[in-house]
Amino acid sequence: MVEDILKVFGITAQQSGVSTGKHWLPAHGADIISVSPVDNKKIATVKSASREDYDLVVAVAQEAFKVWRMWPAPHRGEVVRQVGEALRQHKEQLGKLVSYEMGKSLQEGYGEVQEMIDICDFAVGLSRQLHGLTMHSERPGHRMYEQWHPLGITGIISAFNFPVAVWSWNSMLAWVSGNVCIWKPSEKTPITALACQRIVETVFVANNVPEGVCSLVTGNREVGEWMAHDTRVPLVSATGSTRMGKSVGAAVGERLGRSLLELGGNNAIIISQDADLDMSLIGAVFGAVGTAGQRCTSTRRLIIHESVYDAFTARLVKAYSQLRIGNPLDQHNHVGPLIDTAAVAAYQQSIEQVKQQGGTFLVEGGVLSGAGFESGCYVKPCIAAVENVYRIVQHETFAPILYVMKYQTLTEAIAMQNDVPQGLSSAIMTLNLREAEQFLSQAGSDCGIANVNIGTSGAEIGGAFGGEKETGGGRESGSDAWKAYMRRQTNTINYSTSLPLAQGIKFDL
Ligand code: NAD
Repeated sequence: MVEDILKVFGITAQQSGVSTGKHWLPAHGADIISVSPVDNKKIATVKSASREDYDLVVAVAQEAFKVWRMWPAPHRGEVVRQVGEALRQHKEQLGKLVSYEMGKSLQEGYGEVQEMIDICDFAVGLSRQLHGLTMHSERPGHRMYEQWHPLGITGIISAFNFPVAVWSWNSMLAWVSGNVCIWKPSEKTPITALACQRIVETVFVANNVPEGVCSLVTGNREVGEWMAHDTRVPLVSATGSTRMGKSVGAAVGERLGRSLLELGGNNAIIISQDADLDMSLIGAVFGAVGTAGQRCTSTRRLIIHESVYDAFTARLVKAYSQLRIGNPLDQHNHVGPLIDTAAVAAYQQSIEQVKQQGGTFLVEGGVLSGAGFESGCYVKPCIAAVENVYRIVQHETFAPILYVMKYQTLTEAIAMQNDVPQGLSSAIMTLNLREAEQFLSQAGSDCGIANVNIGTSGAEIGGAFGGEKETGGGRESGSDAWKAYMRRQTNTINYSTSLPLAQGIKFDL
């Protein structure tokens, strides 16, 4: 299957991972071997960018920006519309490739490509709506307004778990805004990045888009570090762990550049005594085990009212016993593999720490072996009863470990939900209006995303996506997230015959 898909995208067994959107450049960095966690088979070898390769790409991008920024935004939008069309045509192959290289279920692979199509549609509309405001000048014969200009090169560093969608959230908005993009994909999922680059390249070349508007520099963290320190890259949008975000944020901040950080989460659902427990069960189980717990919005904690705790955890345990773990391309399975054996080791260590710190398991974890599990990346989703203050509970383990804990009052539950370093996604399951509004109020959830009667996992592209505290504070995708990719300029025009100064200051010559 994968060979046919690679052929569609023109990806060879030994492939350069450096492109300017028109040409694939010879790459001189280390080899990255992409191996599927599904069956441990090698997909292809990608040559990553050396420092010289990276510098060349940046130089081409700088030149491209001078031309691209002058294209009318709706014309840029038309190109993005065509990218959306090309993604529609390739949805099946790209979705399968995402599923195979990353390990998420086929449905989620398709869903990820759908998200890319949706953001293209959103960006096309946006290309006619990059609005500024007009203000009334205090001076006679003067007009004042603001406009939004592109920044230049947007550097995009992405994580393995949404190997293509996160790039599209950034690049589609950045492109209609008039920026050029250089993408450093995760070294764990380079092949899906190559496929996206091929799709975009075909559309861009057909539309005579300047070389360098969409560039790809495959590589490990070092390439991301070059970007973070590079003053030629005014905006670095980085998605990944909090550890990575602290490093990128510091490097970009040190040069007073702009960073847009989308980092780890530690997301909780509060399950009230007034919850619809059927809905809560679906939200909690999908949130915890979907993508094998490898979503930034995965449900990590359930804060359950003491009066429904026993009944609800019993239902959870039963639901977990029905989960089918296995090849994610087989649509009968609910849970696929973790990304690699290092992630499996981190999962096992976390389980040990839960035990050491006093947690007890309602559903035991473990690594699966035998037929179908040869990659060593398949693990059992597990559930542990814990206290919120445990060190391990405060930490994001990127695996299907669900923590459950009890509460008595909603104020206490909200305090527990907020009492972690991260602030991405949160939810309450309740049919009680007062509870829902308290959760959404300024004294409620401190997260960037707060849902009522929906789990923490997944989000629509129309809203601004991102979170507070150690999640990094960035917002991407919908609403007015586009403003992060542009610079605001205030313009005052004097059409009178004198030069009055602001604040009535007199200055006569
Ligand atoms: P990671 O931090 O290991 O790597 C992410 C990317 O950053 C990779 O491309 C990597 O090469 C690069 N990188 C790593 N260290 C770097 C550094 N010091 N300087 C520059 N670049 C560096 O993360 P991962 O394991 O790929 O992804 C999982 C993490 O991503 C989880 O914490 C998850 O919550 C987070 N995530 C967050 C969001 C969000 O929108 N908030 C979305 C997806 C994933």
